[in-house]
Order: sequence, then C-alpha cells, then structure tokens
Amino acid sequence: MLFDIHVHTTISSCSQLKIDAILKHAKNRGLDGVCITDHQTMEIRRYLSEGIQGNGLCVLFGMEYSTPDGDFLLFGPFEDIPPDLNAVQMFEVVARRGGAAIAAHPFRTKRPVREYVIREGFCHVVESFNGRNTDAENLRVDSWRQKYVFAESGGSDAHTLEELGRVRTGFAIPVRSRADIVFALRNGLCYPDSSDKISAEQPPKLLSDCQIRGGFGVGPGYPVVISA
Ligand SMILES: [Zn+2]
Ligand SMILES: [Zn+2]
Repeated sequence: MLFDIHVHTTISSCSQLKIDAILKHAKNRGLDGVCITDHQTMEIRRYLSEGIQGNGLCVLFGMEYSTPDGDFLLFGPFEDIPPDLNAVQMFEVVARRGGAAIAAHPFRTKRPVREYVIREGFCHVVESFNGRNTDAENLRVDSWRQKYVFAESGGSDAHTLEELGRVRTGFAIPVRSRADIVFALRNGLCYPDSSDKISAEQPPKLLSDCQIRGGFGVGPGYPVVISA
C-alpha cells in the first residue's frame, strides 16, 4: 500500500494545501492513503474523521514535531503532547505512549536531525526521501546507512497540491488505522517509494526480519513486537 505520510494542510500556516483538495486528488495520484502531519498540532481531527473516507482513501492523523535537535513525524496518541519538549523528552513521551517517530528530512541543510538520535537508538525510522529536499540532501542519508540499522520512509512534505504524493511510503502490511501505521513503522515494514527521486542504484529497501529482530523493537519503551 502506498501512502504519502508527510502532508501539511492549511492548518499549518505555511501550507496552501486544502483538506478538500487532498481528499479529491490523492487517489488519482496513486495513493491508498495520506497522513496529515501539520506542524505541532493534530487539529485536523476537528475537520475530518480519521480512517477510510467515503471514496476509499485512508486518512490518518499524525504531527510534525519540531525540536532543537530536528523535526520528527509522530504517529500515536499525541493530540495533547506538550509543546516545546526537547528531542529526548519527546522520545520519552513517544515510547511511554507506544507511538512511532520518524526523523524527518534529516540532512536538510536548514533543519537537520542530530545524529545522536539515531546512534543512541532513540529513533528507528528515517525519512530518507523527502519531496522538499534536494537530491543531495536525500542522498546524504547514505552516510547513516553505512553505520546504523534503521527503517526508511518517504513523504512529499506537501504544502501545495502540486506536491501531494510525489514521494510516498510503501507498507508491507495493510494499513487502515493509526494503530496499523504505528505497528508498521515500529517493525520496519515500510520503504520509501518515489518515481522521481529513487534512482536505479537506490531501490526501495525493506528490512529483513533478521534486521528487525536485531535492530528494532528494543530499547526503552520499545517492547519486541515481532518475534517470529
Ligand atoms: Zn511547513
Ligand atoms: Zn513537513
């Protein structure tokens, strides 16, 4: 299943992308679902009910949470997450509440994610393809691939209709609810998908069970979910 899991609506002051336009056009872009990730808020819940919409599109609610050490896409029960947490405090909340966090556009020059977040095991998913990054910024994730084990996701970071669905995340399991996406992310059952950003040398990567067992589901607040 293909989702654009990084999308801003006009609830974010920087975005011009209307909720109606997302609902109307997402399926035509080949998307099975869209995650709304407005900056620091899940206000989207006041305008839309989460889940499968009338036209079959799955819309899930998340958030892009900014810290001094980077921006993170959060999925889980974070409607009331306190603002202004630092990254370590934010990860404590994510772990305690059983959510999932993605290091967003980690090598974007103006909003990088600090490496300790991956090195010290706070974050297990990296947005390796972001539609608003330059190709060079996306390719720099390779320096982390050499050193660390993590799952990868992709998202358009759309702020306009034109951008919607340009970069996507493929899921290896059916995703129909917020619980499903949290499970998929925490178990590395995801890969970035982008017709215009992924070259032949960078095929979508799905972590093997072996890597998942070795590198995921462990650490504070991350109980092992996959044990097969
Ligand atoms: Zn924005
Ligand atoms: Zn964003």
